Amino acid sequence: MTAQLIDGKAIAQKVRDEVKEKAAARAAAGKSQPGLATVLVGERVDSATYVGMKQKACAELGMTSFHHPLPEDVSQEDLEKLIKKLNADPKVHGILVQLPLPDHLDEERVLQLISIEKDVDGFSPINIGRLAQKGREPLFVPCTPFGCIYLLKEAGVEISGANAVVLGRSNIVGMPAALLLVKENATVTVCHSRTKNIADVVRQADILIAAIGRTEMVRGEWIKPGAAVIDVGMNSKPDATKKRGYRLVGDVNFDEAKEVAGFITPVPGGVGPMTIAMLMANTLRAAEIQDE
Ligand code: NAP
Repeated sequence: MTAQLIDGKAIAQKVRDEVKEKAAARAAAGKSQPGLATVLVGERVDSATYVGMKQKACAELGMTSFHHPLPEDVSQEDLEKLIKKLNADPKVHGILVQLPLPDHLDEERVLQLISIEKDVDGFSPINIGRLAQKGREPLFVPCTPFGCIYLLKEAGVEISGANAVVLGRSNIVGMPAALLLVKENATVTVCHSRTKNIADVVRQADILIAAIGRTEMVRGEWIKPGAAVIDVGMNSKPDATKKRGYRLVGDVNFDEAKEVAGFITPVPGGVGPMTIAMLMANTLRAAEIQDE
């Protein structure tokens, strides 16, 4: 292995420790506990798991979580009423609506309603719009892309002036990751399902962020020697040696890429733990902003 492993688990733990310390200092100063409201519509098992992990993290870090489970068939009106109520509640510093929402709900309208000071997921159109504009700063940045950039910085990777390639253009990961890299002065190419000669594009990358949800699609021979590779993908690959019959792998073929890259994140244990750590950091900051 030539690549240096970027240990997302350890880096996320460091972020969580810092947040815990600051939350304790707030309590000692008589300030309110940072509060995160989670809104879960329906009974998707994966969404319920993610929300459960976020609530658990709040409890571990000295923050309050307020959970609002809603039935699958909740009306747009009722969901909007809840968001307005949470916007007005001083104990709630951050609001997280777990995505995706069922098809009958207008996700854009819901995200638009969250007040930007409480938009700890960073998906409100105002925060995303500011991310896309030169000289403007969003109050919050989406947690997974924020985690990707944090990992690069912690590893000491020079972003300014680097050629960066982002695989994927989703609202949640690919596009905000690309916008963040531009803000950090990288030269960015965004690839998607219509990109031609994707391997040749990836070969130009000093920094690669892969977020396509395609099992080990990026091969070692695509990687520029010495490149920093951040693998966001979480895919299950059949594995008879595992009790559950599968294991988690990324969008990058790790065994091949680690022989070529300069830095690489593993899956699991890379980007995954960063998402919740950054959400906790955003929630703490939301409390600080609302104190002002
Ligand atoms: P998504 O919404 O499905 O978007 C996938 C993107 O990849 C789209 O832009 C799509 O292009 C592109 N794409 C799909 N197949 C491709 C191909 N063969 N070649 C090039 N581009 C291709 O997925 P997402 O929500 O961004 O998630 C991406 C991956 O990250 C998934 O594995 C997900 O599980 C993982 N994830 C991890 C975390 C974490 O915390 N670690 C958080 C979120 C997501 P088009 O736009 O042209 O369709």
